[in-house]
Amino acid sequence: MKKLIAILIVCLSLGVYCLGQTSKQPSRSKGKAGAKMESKEIEKVVKTEEEWQKILTPMQFYVMRKKGTERAFTGDLWDNHEKGVYLCAACGQELFSSKTKFDSGTGWPSFWQPVAKENVETENDDTLGMRRVEVTCSRCGAHLGHVFDDGPRPTGLRYCINSASLKFAKQ
Ligand code: FE
Repeated sequence: MKKLIAILIVCLSLGVYCLGQTSKQPSRSKGKAGAKMESKEIEKVVKTEEEWQKILTPMQFYVMRKKGTERAFTGDLWDNHEKGVYLCAACGQELFSSKTKFDSGTGWPSFWQPVAKENVETENDDTLGMRRVEVTCSRCGAHLGHVFDDGPRPTGLRYCINSASLKFAKQ
């Protein structure tokens, strides 16, 4: 009887182990496929630095391609209160809506959410001796600004974006 119970326990644990393995496999491959699908949805814009330099103004090139920052309160959109959509100044992808813009008092256009999660990409930025999270356009890779976690509700995020990286389209 004891032997039988022992065999049963071994079989059960083997079964659970095998189930665990098989259930892990599909979910992992699903994740990979999902990521591939997302990157396919947005057609990337790829240009050389020379090509960007011809298209962009010196300020746009400095901010968007060289990861520069415009001086606070100098851009033309930080105090814009019109209804519309903010596009990437380099490739025209929709990035932010006036509906999520708020007055952060920083002198840079500030938003609590992008128009779509996949329209921006984020990456840790450890320059200037601090940990920040850089925000780029997912279509052309242009530097937009940084995102901080001291924003208003409902997300609690503050996308601090250079005016130079944005083109405003009134709606
Ligand atoms: Fe772009």
